[in-house]
Amino acid sequence: MPSQPGAILKGLGVGLVSAVGDVLIVKQSKPLPEWTRSTKSIDEEISELKSAIDFVSKNLDELGQKAGGTSAEIFEALKTLIEDEELMEVATANIDVGWGAAAAIGKAVDEFAELLGGDPTFEERVADFQDLSKRVQARIAGIEMALSIPEKGRIVLVGEDFSPADTAQFTDAVVGVITLKGGPTSHTAIICRSKSIAAVVSCPDAASLETGDRVLVDPVGDRVLVSDDESLATKSLEFVAINSEPLVPVRANIGTLEDAKAARETRANGVGLFRTELLYLSAKTQPSLEQQVASYTEILKAAPEGPIVVRTIDAGSDKPVPFLNMPEEENPSLGVRGYRLIVDHRDFIESQLKALESARVASGREVWVMAPMIATAEEAKAFADLARSIGGYKVGIMVETPSIALIVDQLGGVIDFVSVGTNDLSQYLFAADRMNPSLGALLNHWQPALIKSLARIASGAKAAGISSGVCGESASDPAFAVVLAGLGMDSVSVSKSQVTAVHNALSSLSLADAKEVANAVLKETTAEAARATALREIANR
Ligand code: PEP
Ligand code: MG
Repeated sequence: MPSQPGAILKGLGVGLVSAVGDVLIVKQSKPLPEWTRSTKSIDEEISELKSAIDFVSKNLDELGQKAGGTSAEIFEALKTLIEDEELMEVATANIDVGWGAAAAIGKAVDEFAELLGGDPTFEERVADFQDLSKRVQARIAGIEMALSIPEKGRIVLVGEDFSPADTAQFTDAVVGVITLKGGPTSHTAIICRSKSIAAVVSCPDAASLETGDRVLVDPVGDRVLVSDDESLATKSLEFVAINSEPLVPVRANIGTLEDAKAARETRANGVGLFRTELLYLSAKTQPSLEQQVASYTEILKAAPEGPIVVRTIDAGSDKPVPFLNMPEEENPSLGVRGYRLIVDHRDFIESQLKALESARVASGREVWVMAPMIATAEEAKAFADLARSIGGYKVGIMVETPSIALIVDQLGGVIDFVSVGTNDLSQYLFAADRMNPSLGALLNHWQPALIKSLARIASGAKAAGISSGVCGESASDPAFAVVLAGLGMDSVSVSKSQVTAVHNALSSLSLADAKEVANAVLKETTAEAARATALREIANR
């Protein structure tokens, strides 16, 4: 049924800018043909594939030049993915066994995407990778994939979700974007945030909109209104820094040397989460101790000033690390992952801790180490004993399971710090698979049950005399970071693109004010009310 004037469509708001514009429904292009066996010679298929990859790659160059900024960097990274030699080797092997060029690349990308999937930093990139595969296949099939967006007017694009190649074609006329799927960390969300385009994602009811409808995109209100009255937009917040230092240190999340260098360009106070497994997602053999020492030393030296919190390998479930040869499991997110690898892979965890100790000494940096997926006090103690027997770093754990969240107050004397991984904590608290885009509402960090858990963790850590921080994506939301500081968290660690925004938010009010905001939020019983209360309370200070 088409949307009636005045209708309200709920979704997840991105950014703080609202906009009124005319809906343009972006249709999916013609479906790609089914994968088929080859009817040509091997050489013909290979040359067809090479020229299609070449075409897509050149197209990425052009789009990058046109879009500039964040998009240009993303296109550079995408080009590396699609031009990867190993990818071509796998695709060629598929052609050798009789597949046509389109099937060969499609299958090769599926295989690589499975290796990359898992970590939130990569989950969204997997969708980008699959989009590239579709573009190559479309080229082979002679299907046009360009969007046609007017250059003038005030357009609100509506679609399932938008890929990097799609977003690069957004013209200046695009004032708003609505996606039926995708979450707050989707590519669409990242680009809209960086270009200050009003956006609401995960908004399935937008399927009822029609091209030409006039809508108000109201991200602060987590909604879209079928209305042209801009004054109905929920008041947005502007954080004005009044203090020179934030209420708590704002650290950066990193996974690679490039991330460490980029984080150094921000105001980040050290690193709150170094996801070490990102170094190994495509390694076919276990890196030697020397290789690990070399890469950790380089990364520690490059990282922003301040402590560097390094997580030991978090493999398993959504983060497959090939050289660990982990067995297939019925229910991998509840299986042998994270610290549980200690049973079969103690040698690798020990080698990581040894390499980190050498890198700590060589770099002269302050290093903290922590283990992922800890569920019991015994596991916390076993990890702490192991780490302390190897190095002179601070030792902590991630709080990602409800079981350990309940007993943080009993960890005094066992560990030095806890860092809350809200991505996994939400997944296990709400029994909602973090990879499932339909469960965005349960994984929303404003859910009261998550906020109550965070309050309990912060007070438990204080009682135990250990420091607490949050390194999940939730901390990258500036208003949520204020709530975290108000709940008593001692630090936050955020994606590098959010350091400035979170720094500003945490420098814009006093700790007493942040506590009042958090107390008001704790009284709410829905995610929607919790966020609305936080924004209202912050605006009133
Ligand atoms: C988390 O679970 O919130 C977290 C930071 O770890 P990852 O996203 O890498 O699982
Ligand atoms: Mg996690």
